[in-house]
Amino acid sequence: MSNPSLLILPGDGIGQEVMAEVRRVIDWFGAKRDLQFDVSEDLVGGAAYDAHGVPLHDDTMVKAQEVDAVLLGAVGGPAYDDLDFSLKPERGLLRLRKEMDLFANLRPAQCFDALADFSSLKKELVAGLDIMIVRELTSGVYFGEPRGIHMEDNMRVGVNTQRYTEAEIERGARAAFEMAMKRDKKLCSMEKANVMESGILWRDVVTEVHADYPEVELSHMYADNGAMQLVRAPKQFDVIYTDNLFGDILSDCAAMLTGSLGMLPSASLGAPMENGRPKAMYEPVHGSAPDITGQGKANPIACILSFAMALRYSFDEGAEAARLEAAIEKVLADGVRTGDLLSDANSTAVSTSGMTDAILAALDESL
Ligand code: NAD
Repeated sequence: MSNPSLLILPGDGIGQEVMAEVRRVIDWFGAKRDLQFDVSEDLVGGAAYDAHGVPLHDDTMVKAQEVDAVLLGAVGGPAYDDLDFSLKPERGLLRLRKEMDLFANLRPAQCFDALADFSSLKKELVAGLDIMIVRELTSGVYFGEPRGIHMEDNMRVGVNTQRYTEAEIERGARAAFEMAMKRDKKLCSMEKANVMESGILWRDVVTEVHADYPEVELSHMYADNGAMQLVRAPKQFDVIYTDNLFGDILSDCAAMLTGSLGMLPSASLGAPMENGRPKAMYEPVHGSAPDITGQGKANPIACILSFAMALRYSFDEGAEAARLEAAIEKVLADGVRTGDLLSDANSTAVSTSGMTDAILAALDESL
């Protein structure tokens, strides 16, 4: 059987720096755990514009459709700010998401004990937190028609339409149940079925899909209560499934429970491919950070955790993903810190590659 394939798109700025560190981690798993990947690398964003005059070359798009998973660094930078909208680096990212039809956006909120002081919540509420928000990404009020601003009775009226088909709700729900099966088998679906018909349909469809996942404990919550519960007692959740608008807000809120931008991974999943794996793109939440590019200051952990998500959700290597996360946990507990992380007199300041050195050493110790 051939090795699983990975397309690496480092992009711009610190995207290139953190991805170089991820490649070292991938090499470690190849050498020490006999986990081999067929890795190819290509351009996206400003780097693709410089080489080809477009933010994503058609050949790269074809490759992205063929591989088992795409790993992306970050795109953008001041050199590209004045480009025409259609050529901006972000268009490359949006094209990947759209043409791969990545309808489920996964945003984990995972709090490493050593960084619990970073949170705006009390340490005991967030230490050890590990939740996953699955947000429907390609429908709902951001896309529904009619939309626009028009005149009515001499007054401007702004209109957006919340619209979901049962097929859209169902495919996202399946992704969320699959996710729950790989975690603690608990799923909470959030909508506003008390005041919105789309919420009533959402609740019905999620309940129907539940019949195929009887091992998962399903609960329903109104999204406003969900927001409150996320800051009151976030550890009650494992996987949360919600729509595009509520998910936008709830995932940002949950992510910030855990602190630094340099620590936050994400994934976007699409329909299962012939081999059963979902179409998938994994990427850190942060951007290309022009203010620190080329200085060895970028924290590579968000990108390395994105690879851990790929191990768990694309390659069914949950135990190896846990090994990598535990190595990161250990390094942080030992006080190893890039500049973006809270430090004290006992911490050791490291560069981008110094952080990876420490993680690889912790991985070696795990054997
Ligand atoms: P940013 O995420 O690049 O940076 C925000 C701040 O966080 C900066 O001070 C930066 O130094 C810091 N930071 C970010 N990641 C870090 C890391 N790994 N380690 C240490 N510090 C880190 O957001 P921005 O400054 O608003 O945007 C910069 C560029 O990135 C823009 O061109 C923007 O369009 C683009 N962007 C791209 C993506 C993406 O590729 N997914 C996401 C957001 C922004």
